[in-house]
Amino acid sequence: ESIQVGELAKAMGVKASDIIKKFMELGTMVTINQSIDPETAAIVAAEFGYEVEQAAIEEEQLLEYTPPSPEELKPRPPVVTVMGHVDHGKTTLLDAIRETDVVSKEAGGITQHIGAYKVKLKDGQEITFIDTPGHEAFTHMRARGAQVTDIVVLVVAADDGVMDQTKEAIDHARAAGVPIVVAINKIDKPEANPERVKSELAELGLVPEDWGGDTLYAEISAKKKIGIDDLLELILLQAEMLELKAAPDRPARGRIVESRLDKGRGPVATVIIQEGTLKEGDPFVAGITYGRVRAMLDERGRRLKKAGPATPVEILGFHEVPQAGDDFIVMPDEQKARKVAEYRARKQREAEAAKETKISLDKLFEKLKEGEVKELKVVLKADVQGTLEALQDSLQKLATDEVRVNIIRSGIGAITESDIMLASASNAIVIGFNVRPTSQAKRLAEEEKVEIRFYDVIYKLIEDVKKAMSGLLEPEI
Ligand code: GDP
Repeated sequence: ESIQVGELAKAMGVKASDIIKKFMELGTMVTINQSIDPETAAIVAAEFGYEVEQAAIEEEQLLEYTPPSPEELKPRPPVVTVMGHVDHGKTTLLDAIRETDVVSKEAGGITQHIGAYKVKLKDGQEITFIDTPGHEAFTHMRARGAQVTDIVVLVVAADDGVMDQTKEAIDHARAAGVPIVVAINKIDKPEANPERVKSELAELGLVPEDWGGDTLYAEISAKKKIGIDDLLELILLQAEMLELKAAPDRPARGRIVESRLDKGRGPVATVIIQEGTLKEGDPFVAGITYGRVRAMLDERGRRLKKAGPATPVEILGFHEVPQAGDDFIVMPDEQKARKVAEYRARKQREAEAAKETKISLDKLFEKLKEGEVKELKVVLKADVQGTLEALQDSLQKLATDEVRVNIIRSGIGAITESDIMLASASNAIVIGFNVRPTSQAKRLAEEEKVEIRFYDVIYKLIEDVKKAMSGLLEPEI
């Protein structure tokens, strides 16, 4: 980590004597062979115009990942999410499946909701279920770059058929490239009509096998526990086609599926292991937090010593509560884990701070080039209604394929604090035509870094906006 003065000089291409001189100016005597710590090196390097990113590089190296070789890979259980329209029986199905677990039948214990559970079937095969039904959690995870689901079970009530959320679920599963197994539920009901459900779904592209398609269908009653075993068989069949594999013999990596702050136990989170085997005592980083596995529990509160691929475990030992969707990576030691977590937290803060920089007409150019903005948001205030309307019209006409002007508020009279707050929250600029801000608004604009531009000639205002926008137009291909 530390570097010798001579090496530093070489790295920067300056004379060692110049560096030593610089140290003297800073009040320290050093020799050419002396080792200096990274912080001091960075300060001196900055004096020579160098930015030392040593720390960042090191932390990124800590996270470097080598994918497993084919020989390391072993088959693993599938991870399943249940989706479907409200009241079609997702929760009832998850409960019914949980009760089929042969292990828990022997061991007893009260099940708790920890976000996911694994069932072992009679023949020893296993399936992991995400215990939060619906596509919201699924999509939230995906938005965070996490995909843990291998198969979606789409629950459709046989007496109700395809509904809005059924279609949404299909869209979400398709967008994620995850295969769908259909469970036609509530077949115990007299008004159940599974054939109608099949034809509705076939129209949406989910053609049953016996109709020449490749979608697996089970007809079940979650409430009466009919057809549950068949459904589980179909899930395993679908999983077989996916040839799911993971390397069990390496440090664990996974995803947080649920987390909370427990009054007695502190931060607690459920992780689905995606690769490797997690052991008690393992140090880890998770999103911007870190820790050491103090205890691992399954959904019956039983303590586990280790957990392999596709296993959900509730973990104690986080420094702070992580977020659902965060990655979970076992690190060589806790100090390194902490370093990476702090580095990530810093980067996140920087990204947030950068985001907070409000837009200005001048800066619009860069932002558009970087693809950060696609529209110019404007809060428009004018002295009279006629002018206001004329301005709105002209500004909106400036829209091109790449940029449009979005007037998020327009009104008559002075620029007020509320105008500034709106602009601040929306990254908009404020344009005043023949009007001024109140003194409070002026102060607030300075604090919030909101740009206010003043005009008294219409054509000048339009000119400026046009210039800013045309400077930004992406080159046409
Ligand atoms: P979710 O909103 O999709 O989670 O649906 P729930 O599991 O909460 O079920 C909604 C209602 O349908 C409840 O009153 C369940 O008892 C009922 N239900 C679920 N499955 C069946 C079933 O197979 N047959 C019948 N008759 N009712 C069911």
